[in-house]
Amino acid sequence: MTFSQEPRVEHGHGVQNGIESRGFATKAVHAGSPHDPVTGAVIPTISLSTTFAQTAVGSPVGLYEYSRSSNPNRDNFETAVAALEGARYALAFSSGSAATATILQSLATGSHVISVSDVYGGTHRYFTKVATAHGVRVTFSGSIEVDVRSLIEPATKLIWIETPSNPTLSLVDIRAVADVAHEFGILVVVDNTFLSPYVQNPLKHGADIVVHSVTKYINGHSDVLMGVAAFSDEDLIDHLRFLQNAIGAVPSPFDCWLAHRGLKTLHLRAKAASQNAQAVAEALEASQHVIAVNYPGLNSHAQRYVALKQHRKGLGGGMLSFRIKGGAKAAHKFCQLTKIFTLAESLGGVESLCEVPSSMTHAGIPQIEREAAGVYDDLVRLSCGIEDLDDLVGDVLQAVETTVALLEAGSV
Ligand SMILES: *Cc1c(COP(=O)(O)O)cnc(C)c1O
Repeated sequence: MTFSQEPRVEHGHGVQNGIESRGFATKAVHAGSPHDPVTGAVIPTISLSTTFAQTAVGSPVGLYEYSRSSNPNRDNFETAVAALEGARYALAFSSGSAATATILQSLATGSHVISVSDVYGGTHRYFTKVATAHGVRVTFSGSIEVDVRSLIEPATKLIWIETPSNPTLSLVDIRAVADVAHEFGILVVVDNTFLSPYVQNPLKHGADIVVHSVTKYINGHSDVLMGVAAFSDEDLIDHLRFLQNAIGAVPSPFDCWLAHRGLKTLHLRAKAASQNAQAVAEALEASQHVIAVNYPGLNSHAQRYVALKQHRKGLGGGMLSFRIKGGAKAAHKFCQLTKIFTLAESLGGVESLCEVPSSMTHAGIPQIEREAAGVYDDLVRLSCGIEDLDDLVGDVLQAVETTVALLEAGSV
């Protein structure tokens, strides 16, 4: 799992050696993808066997014994993600939620966690409804860079950051929080799902663990549900690998193979999605029918300086949200009038998606709390895919114009 010590590298192909020093794209294509030493197959086969033969008791033929504990396709995928996040280790899970749950379960009863308030809905649910059952308390903060020191208690073991936040795309300065956390020996976890390892590498900014819903950008084709956690600390690997095996929320070899195939084009997809989102955000910001646009690639973004410091080339990523004039009715209508953006939850795939968070992904949050976090009923969230830029800009603008015309005619 450590790509630097990977035993199969020896009979793999040359590029596996010294891959740490290669560029992102070379790592994406080659890390964890050795040629088959027997057949020469360039692409690793899908290893469906759940069990592996042993020549004597306790002496397996190869590296594997039982597929929940480890298997070749999961190892390959984990090696690739570790390379892309600049981590020594990565552990894959059956979903992003399972990765989150496993990290939270590594904490002793009585532990305290500090989290940004705008976390993914499922993360919020786990923190407030599941972690409590084994005696882990979570305090939420809407301004963690400012509050972190005052929120730390003797029992604080973990700080959870999601940057950019969902769906308002506000950013957290990871280094600012990590510096304080590390004074107290507290671990910092960053959910990097929204940007992918191409745009942001949280470990380089002081985070101890980075997690992803692989379901989104890393797989990138909206056909696999998976999660991953990556980190470099030796103390974490034994404990988290133990829990990965003991809890057993692991992905299938087939899903690992598919997600690994998706990962090989992450750099191309993330760049295209980011360029598309930038153009869509600029077009929306210029529209008289739009109240505000949340996008870290815009100079109007309140934490644009964080994006410039933390994101590759200051890229804004593929996600944005905007408030349309005309209230909830307009937001709903907009999502029915787009022709390329599909009305659906989720994000990070090659296809563009739109949704209304207040009625869909964030419907579970009470209105007062939601609006305090900027999630108004007229907010639309877009996940820009990798279609043609002009087509996406045109689609969004025609949907805005048509929505407004229908509202003015009283037919919405
Ligand atoms: C989707 C998502 C998750 C949860 O991942 P699943 O794979 O759906 O379990 C966690 N964090 C963020 C930011 C997400 O978008």
